[in-house]
Amino acid sequence: SDVPVVLNEPVRTYEPGSSEVNNLISTYKKMWNEKVEIPMIINGKQVKTDTKVQLQSPQDHAHDFGFYYKGDMSHVDEAINTALAARQKWADLAWEQRVSIFLKAADLFAGPYRDKINAATMIGQSKNVHQTEIDAACEFIDFLRFNVEFVREMYAEQPISDEGMWNRVEYRPLEGFTFAVTPFNFTAISGNLPSCMAMLGNVVLWKPSDKQIFSANIIMEVFREAGLPDGVINMVFTDGKETAEKVLQHPDFAGLHFTGSTKVFQSMWKQIGDNIHKYKTYPRIVGETGGKDFVIAHPSAHPEAVATGLVRGAFEYQGQKCSAASRAYIPKSLWNAVKSSMEAQLKTIKIGSPEDPSNFVNAVIDKNSFEKCKGYIERAKSSKDAEVIFGGNCDDSKGWFVEPTVILASDAHYESICEEIFGPILSIYVYEDEDWSKTLKLVDETSPYALTGAVFSQDRYAIEEAYKALENAAGNFYINDKPTGAVVGQQPFGGARASGTNDKAGSKMNLMRWVSVRTIKETF
Ligand code: GLU
Repeated sequence: SDVPVVLNEPVRTYEPGSSEVNNLISTYKKMWNEKVEIPMIINGKQVKTDTKVQLQSPQDHAHDFGFYYKGDMSHVDEAINTALAARQKWADLAWEQRVSIFLKAADLFAGPYRDKINAATMIGQSKNVHQTEIDAACEFIDFLRFNVEFVREMYAEQPISDEGMWNRVEYRPLEGFTFAVTPFNFTAISGNLPSCMAMLGNVVLWKPSDKQIFSANIIMEVFREAGLPDGVINMVFTDGKETAEKVLQHPDFAGLHFTGSTKVFQSMWKQIGDNIHKYKTYPRIVGETGGKDFVIAHPSAHPEAVATGLVRGAFEYQGQKCSAASRAYIPKSLWNAVKSSMEAQLKTIKIGSPEDPSNFVNAVIDKNSFEKCKGYIERAKSSKDAEVIFGGNCDDSKGWFVEPTVILASDAHYESICEEIFGPILSIYVYEDEDWSKTLKLVDETSPYALTGAVFSQDRYAIEEAYKALENAAGNFYINDKPTGAVVGQQPFGGARASGTNDKAGSKMNLMRWVSVRTIKETF
């Protein structure tokens, strides 16, 4: 059967003074002043505990807008048992029945819940109206709708049959339960990881980041309103380390769908290795784990295009995208022009709460992130190998605000050029024009990550050279554009090396990992 035609959800522009923006901001204000109580959801039931944890908004850490109920390992056990009990019925349900739930959820997010999921992301994760719109609304809706289409295409793929036989493949869910561990930085990713596995008939234990619980709760609410049966996705708020330990030694653990830090992913992979003899089946492991994403400009590049790519790529959502442009390589001949264009743009940037839609930069996620950024800035200020040439101010009096900061490093291996910071800090290295080819090699060798990267050039031979020299340095490679903002269905997203297993989110390549195929040959 055919599913409805998929197109990318149109992005609302939120023009100043428009009813779209006014409605969103009034939803924000309303939710800001309500006090929520967020329970875990296990077997479709709200689970409350004695441990209440206050929710925090990065733009105003003293503001109290409610709390969530924290669970312990007994809840993890219960969630796993519940998922396993729900498995057979869910797996046996015709796929059209399963995916319809998520198509309906997409429509709910596109319409009646759009302001709510956006406002929750603005409050809990400090995204401005434009950044939340491309994430919590459009990308999430796209994930849901495109994945349904990919499921249809996948299920339709069948082997050939010869005379006297009929060969077929059956796309079965994994045998056991799956585990989704999701990050704070994209509401869309948080919703996609559990839902794409569930679409294929899997049952899921979902542990969102404790920094994203406010919007995760709305995702669960909408999935349930769309008809998700009890026990299929179970959402727990528990200690990450303890939960991983518990889950990864369960005999029915069948798959990990992870987005987060390299360190946590590697430790989970190691635990899976240590427990390998305990499992009924080899678990699938899919992870997307950070980046140190580059921008390299060739002397033929258009300096303003480079500057715009850097300002947007490095500072949208305070640089807290795995894909953020965080190291740039600019030829000496272009440097003055790139620098003055960047400065002109940066001077217009306003910093503050997302409640005012003209604030381009909002707060970083929490105290840890704030302190980390501050540390890099302070060390750069006193280093002989680096100088802070723009920004550098940090203010935590009300929220976790870090000014967009540009560090110019004279040493190509200076710490902020090599290490992932996950904040609004861009490091720049200026190279001699004649060292273009050498610099490509440097870009490739400087970081262990390989998520995204961009080359700016008007010279086709230079583009070709960069394209080849950096073939393993980025899973998503951009030519004359910023390295962020992959769109579902247009740029399948993911990277290799320390950035992950490169199983492209929002594509059939990812969905294939969550099925266990049975091949059937029947002879006549
Ligand atoms: N897909 C996002 C982008 O292209 C980044 C996702 C992430 O930060 O994990 O910007």
